[in-house]
Amino acid sequence: MKQVQLAITCRCGRSERVQLGPVWSCPQCGSEWDTSQVPAEEYQAYGRAVRRVQLLSLSGVLVCAVLTALLALLVSPALLPVGIVLLGVWYFWYLPTHRKQIKRLYETLPRWEIAPSDSNHNVDPAS
Ligand SMILES: [Zn+2]
Repeated sequence: MKQVQLAITCRCGRSERVQLGPVWSCPQCGSEWDTSQVPAEEYQAYGRAVRRVQLLSLSGVLVCAVLTALLALLVSPALLPVGIVLLGVWYFWYLPTHRKQIKRLYETLPRWEIAPSDSNHNVDPAS
């Protein structure tokens, strides 16, 4: 299953999208960011919310398809165009709502502050 990616913004300003888990080294300044410092529970809860919205959208198409198949099989094949109407309703009515949900989700993206693991290297050895 596709995981939600993390966007890391380095102290030097470089920003990159990474998967949760491995240590990411900034190619610009060499800072190492340990993504395992991100609270896995919060991160997974967010991933679940995204998947739920995606699943809802997919189930909308499935419901349309199943309803159309049932109508065509049980009532009359002449009712097949109803399926096209249903898909149209789904496309024009549901999809905009779905896009708003996705947009809202991304607007409420959680943020975590993690410390780069090479911070010790920056300490002046003379002090
Ligand atoms: Zn950097």
